[in-house]
Amino acid sequence: MKPHRITMTHHLVVAYGLHKHMECYRPRLASAPEMCQFHSEDYVDFLRRVTPANQEQLLSQMQRFSVGEDCPVFGDMWKFCQLYTGATLEGAVKLNSGQHDLAINWSGGLHHAKKAQASGFCYVNDLVLGILELLKYHPRVLYIDIDIHHGDGVEEAFFTTDRVMCVSFHKYGDNFFPGSGAHDDIGHGRGKYYSVNVPLKDGIDDEDFLALFKPIMTKVMESYRPGAVVLQCGADSLANDRLGCFSLSLQGHAECVRFIKSYGVPLLLTGGGGYTKANVARCWAYETAVALGVDGELSQDLPRNDYYDYFAPSFCLQVPPPYIRNHNAPEELERVRNYALDCLKRIQHAPSVQMQEMPPSWMLPDFDYLEELDPNLRMTSSQRRAAMAMPDADVY
Ligand SMILES: [Zn+2]
Repeated sequence: MKPHRITMTHHLVVAYGLHKHMECYRPRLASAPEMCQFHSEDYVDFLRRVTPANQEQLLSQMQRFSVGEDCPVFGDMWKFCQLYTGATLEGAVKLNSGQHDLAINWSGGLHHAKKAQASGFCYVNDLVLGILELLKYHPRVLYIDIDIHHGDGVEEAFFTTDRVMCVSFHKYGDNFFPGSGAHDDIGHGRGKYYSVNVPLKDGIDDEDFLALFKPIMTKVMESYRPGAVVLQCGADSLANDRLGCFSLSLQGHAECVRFIKSYGVPLLLTGGGGYTKANVARCWAYETAVALGVDGELSQDLPRNDYYDYFAPSFCLQVPPPYIRNHNAPEELERVRNYALDCLKRIQHAPSVQMQEMPPSWMLPDFDYLEELDPNLRMTSSQRRAAMAMPDADVY
């Protein structure tokens, strides 16, 4: 299913003629050593070796690395990981070189993957690797996540550093996956106030979502002044998603892209979740047009393409209207917004780094390189939880 919705997106982008407005690159395959800049070697080695045929012999490793249930083994899984990771890395390199100011990889955005654990259909965390690449050139990188699920893997990787700010808007509560991302989850140590979480309830609509997104992101851009932005555009926050429960329209979702693009900071757009395939393709094709500044030219009637029948019965660009009532009370939304804005006020200055030798492109910095800046960066989840238990979240 996952590769199929990317194929559908690609066909719709091409049928609309959007490829004529941009340069298209065939991604190279990311290598195992590149993935090991974030992931552990034994985990990457396992991903490289496991196949549907040998998975029963690797049962203990399957359990250790949480591969099997939510993250099934499928044919060509390793190549799939290499492709989407290679594309995100290449996007980051193109931004670093100044060759392009905007890069898109709709096959990337697998934000749940951890250092040595697959999670939520994410195996390799291309976002973390892409951000590490951007950090070679930029003192500060901003990560924004509008997938309906909390961007936990990226947040965890950068939880204790101020060189990456992670801002995630997501459904929270009712045991919704992955369960993290409460409003007072704000980072730790040098990373305190550099994680921003905006927890939401079912049925949030465009108006309510943007009334949070715009003021919070305005404050983030003003106070953090990132050198590059990575925007994960998970489409499961759209209305009528098979797993999601928000009520965002295509316009509302794409307005986040338009708003961030308006700052003119080098921008990497990625995909993410999205489980109603035709709507995922609609969303990312439309957001491609927004990124290119040609969205006004798109016809509402979808152009003929190889997957045209999947867009029945409307064959229109817009997604059908939402079915889910908005469960977000105005006073609760205001409280969440004010909390996030109060935290952002604590950022007195945009942090900078000392001059240092620039590692060459494609050779990602070893995580030790970041560790020099912050020795806590490699804290395990349990150490971090223990640290978080300390009562230092004092602004709510
Ligand atoms: Zn998701």
